[in-house]
Amino acid sequence: MLFREIIGQDEIKKDLIATVTNNRISHAQLFNGPEGNGMLALALAYAQYINCTNKQEKDSCGTCPSCVKFNKLQHPDLHFVFPVATNDKVKSKPVSDNFINEWKEIMVQQPYLSLSAWLEHIGVDNKQGGIQNEESSQIFKKLQLKTYEAEYKIMIIWMAEKMNETCANKLLKIFEEPPEKTLFILLSENTDNMLQTILSRTQIRTIPKIDAASMQEKIATDFNLEGADLRTIVHNANGNYYKAFQLMSYDNSHKDFFNYFTQLMRFTYGKNLIEAAKLTEIISKLGREKQKLFIEYSLKLIRENFILNQNQEKIVYLYKQEKDFSDKFHHYINERNIAQITKEFNDAHFHIERNGNPKIIFFDLSIKLMILLRA
Ligand SMILES: [Zn+2]
Repeated sequence: MLFREIIGQDEIKKDLIATVTNNRISHAQLFNGPEGNGMLALALAYAQYINCTNKQEKDSCGTCPSCVKFNKLQHPDLHFVFPVATNDKVKSKPVSDNFINEWKEIMVQQPYLSLSAWLEHIGVDNKQGGIQNEESSQIFKKLQLKTYEAEYKIMIIWMAEKMNETCANKLLKIFEEPPEKTLFILLSENTDNMLQTILSRTQIRTIPKIDAASMQEKIATDFNLEGADLRTIVHNANGNYYKAFQLMSYDNSHKDFFNYFTQLMRFTYGKNLIEAAKLTEIISKLGREKQKLFIEYSLKLIRENFILNQNQEKIVYLYKQEKDFSDKFHHYINERNIAQITKEFNDAHFHIERNGNPKIIFFDLSIKLMILLRA
């Protein structure tokens, strides 16, 4: 991964390169920031730059033997740790190495990936992924390997907040007596669940969401978009490139989502329990990733309808068919129900993410909407 392939984040790139130029590479670093901001891509580019044998002022050369291996994620001194769970192939004590081929394959294509998309990719999306006890002995083992050819041995730990306490405590011991020329890059989206002792022993760097201008430029090129559609995607993605990618690749689903949403509103407003139950049945078969996207989509439409209801059309972001629907629907989303409707959708999202039964969750939501839409 080259720095120039990463969307935006110019300040961070400059800072990272400066640590190398000034020979101030801290041995345990933590990148923290929101999903889809490119932290993992930055960690990869940083690792590659550190080991590039022909460093340029602002980027790796991309062609030296080290760069060639880093580009394919095949460098023997580059190690990964990430959340995993059991699936139909790995029945117990899962560790990252069980899934390393799947990991490298998807990382090369999509380094902006979200955790839930990763878990879906390895077929464990109905479980919580984690970094468990067994992983720490793997980490020890890899650190004992001699450094093959690189200047630095690098271990990237993705979603470090998913590390359990035992594993984190063992890692802490390593941080206290760091092996020479070894760099740990921990990545997290939320440090609240991490041990204070880990946080105090890492150099923390906050990685912001992607700025709108860089995002717009990238989406325009990647998806050949312009005008209002481009503006809407950039707005909805909110600095998360993976979200933009999902919104675009779910283009067909997008039509489905619109249909589900309009039906859900119609059936619940009309108190049509039977049709609402049928729709719930269909939605419950979509898979968790799509269900979450559908909820996010619904939240967006509800928010935009409320804004229309408040006569603020200028700041509304809707596609044409959504706008046509909303011209009538916005009368039903008002200050009496907006907070509660939003809460109900958010609760549904929370329960879907924690593996609740989707049929029950969406049916409950329908019943609550029947009351709320008439408020
Ligand atoms: Zn190079």
